[in-house]
Amino acid sequence: MRRIAVVNQKGGVGKTTTAINLSAALAVAEKRVLLIDVDAQANATSGLGIDNREPKLSTYEIFMDPERTREAVQGTSVKYLDIIPASLDLAGLEIELIDSEAREARLKRAIEGLDSYDYVIMDAPPSLGILTLNALVAAEGVLIPVQCEYYSLEGISKLTDTLNRVRQSLNPGLEIFGVLLTMYDPRTNLADQVAEEVRKYFSGKVFVTMIPRNVRLAEAPSFGQTILHYDINSRGAQAYLELASEVISRG
Ligand code: ATP
Ligand code: MG
Repeated sequence: MRRIAVVNQKGGVGKTTTAINLSAALAVAEKRVLLIDVDAQANATSGLGIDNREPKLSTYEIFMDPERTREAVQGTSVKYLDIIPASLDLAGLEIELIDSEAREARLKRAIEGLDSYDYVIMDAPPSLGILTLNALVAAEGVLIPVQCEYYSLEGISKLTDTLNRVRQSLNPGLEIFGVLLTMYDPRTNLADQVAEEVRKYFSGKVFVTMIPRNVRLAEAPSFGQTILHYDINSRGAQAYLELASEVISRG
């Protein structure tokens, strides 16, 4: 089982779009995938058409009680893809856990007993707080989406510092699984400059696949659909299918 956290504390870089559509593309390749929504915004949950106002169990409950993980898993309309949805309760977790022991290892504990998946994909919020730390401690690898625009590398050194700290203490085996260039617009020189800079910074870690800027990717979540179901012929869908093959071939 591969456990991958999709992390970048910068907001709006394509974490959730990637978590949803990479999960779906892996599921289409008949890999069994569990997507865990670790963000109180619950965008991965609603993007898959799941109503997070229903009183079902969510990521919040598995942080509080790791025994409830199996109960919190829901199927989705995509075969081979399950989800643990998020709810607004997650927003209060930082404070609720402030004095509790092993508070960075809650999620790790919660998913320890799961062995029936090929991939567990965790969608992190735009911060380096307790929720993201839990995703980093529970993961084997980090997938870092980087948007192809000015300032995209701003804050990346803070992220790599955090990864180093997590390695030194709670999760020595944590690796950068891959860096993904998102919202790439081939018509601009800027996008190519940023891509080059990112490839230099993360030598060897950057996926060959780049996710193009594609309006279909932005539309799909409002229909509660992955891009593969919303518009399989779109450039966005094709890019996420290519990314999934790259992920599978990285083992
Ligand atoms: P947050 O930090 O708030 O969690 P995020 O990193 O998860 O954000 P997304 O929610 O995936 O980012 O994307 C931000 C916005 O950009 C969304 O409206 C999304 O639909 C849109 N978007 C993401 N990727 C693309 C793309 N390749 N082309 C066009 N629009 C995109
Ligand atoms: Mg998000």
